[in-house]
Amino acid sequence: MKDASGILIVAEYSDDKIKLVSFELVKKARELADKIGTSVFVFVMGHNLKNIDEFGEYGADKIYYADEPALENFDDTIYANITTDLIKLVNPEIVLAPATPIGRSFIPRVATYLETGLTADCIDLDIRVEDRILIQKRPAWGGNMIADIYCPVKRPQMATVRPGVFKAEKTGNNKAETERINSSNEALTKGFDLVRIEKDDFSENKLNNCNVIFSVGRGVDPALIPKIKELARLLDAGVGCTRPLVEGKIFPHSCQIGQSGTFVTPKVCFSLGISGAIQYTVGIKGAENNIAVNRDSDAQIFEVSDFGIVSDVNKIIPLLLEKIREIKGIK
Ligand SMILES: Cc1cc2nc3c(=O)[nH]c(=O)nc-3n(C[C@H](O)[C@H](O)[C@H](O)COP(=O)(O)OP(=O)(O)OC[C@H]3O[C@@H](n4cnc5c(N)ncnc54)[C@H](O)[C@@H]3O)c2cc1C
Repeated sequence: MKDASGILIVAEYSDDKIKLVSFELVKKARELADKIGTSVFVFVMGHNLKNIDEFGEYGADKIYYADEPALENFDDTIYANITTDLIKLVNPEIVLAPATPIGRSFIPRVATYLETGLTADCIDLDIRVEDRILIQKRPAWGGNMIADIYCPVKRPQMATVRPGVFKAEKTGNNKAETERINSSNEALTKGFDLVRIEKDDFSENKLNNCNVIFSVGRGVDPALIPKIKELARLLDAGVGCTRPLVEGKIFPHSCQIGQSGTFVTPKVCFSLGISGAIQYTVGIKGAENNIAVNRDSDAQIFEVSDFGIVSDVNKIIPLLLEKIREIKGIK
């Protein structure tokens, strides 16, 4: 697309709220846009949208929104049609979207409709000022190296970014303009009929939006997982895990922390029975306080922890639960 300019964030709105990752991307886009002197636009879609002005506080200059009953539940076809039409209208040079299950599902379709490239699952972004090329960093070769990927010819340059990679900080600017987008009936034509939505055990898991995380490793006896879930419920905390637990089908992939999972940024992250492989610790480096429990005093995890407990984690978990129940007055 000729004369493209500006950075557009395709925000995610679900369960009646703006997903935190959307603010993370707007804040990062502001930083990149200031380097090349351009604007930050946000596009958000859903039904009965609330608090969309908030994007201004994270650095957006203009917010486009589509609010239609047909957008209440995620539909690949509709979301892709409407986003493609909006991108053609705004003509941004860069489009960023969350690498969440929703983003991963429809953003590739948008890139195909626009006949441009897409780098999925970025873990960092920068911009080459002289030619406005977006430097899209993501793991490559099975995660053994980090590649810089460029899209030199086609526009927009498109990337999806993992939640938790950037911090959602307010910039103080809160006067973004808003514009409602009316979508055509054709664009709103459903791709499928929704029969029902089934939520799994972890659908309410707040890995990317919580103060405390209990992260479970291979050292934890699976019989203790109900106790960890109870701890998390009592403290409004998230539950994470290492990759072997996903491979062993003990947790879904949405719980995996690390290079090929999620990057987390809580106030406190407990790493329980986890050795501390780099592929895991890269995902917890954004936590304000890391606390590790491992029976091996030489475990690598202690090198990246603020506090360490050398002990059998399977004894610590029941004790911790008992203490929290006592503090909360639960028998
Ligand atoms: C390309 C690639 C990508 C990867 N991506 C990820 C990723 O995103 N996330 C991820 O987690 N991993 C990832 N991995 C795997 C990673 O390298 C490690 O294998 C994994 O993190 C190890 O998980 P763990 O610490 O639970 O298990 P282990 O390495 O087996 O560690 C178990 C730990 O528990 C301790 N322990 C055992 N019993 C007890 C007990 N009773 N009490 C206290 N401590 C105990 C042991 O001392 C040990 O330190 C990736 C690997 C590759 C090659």
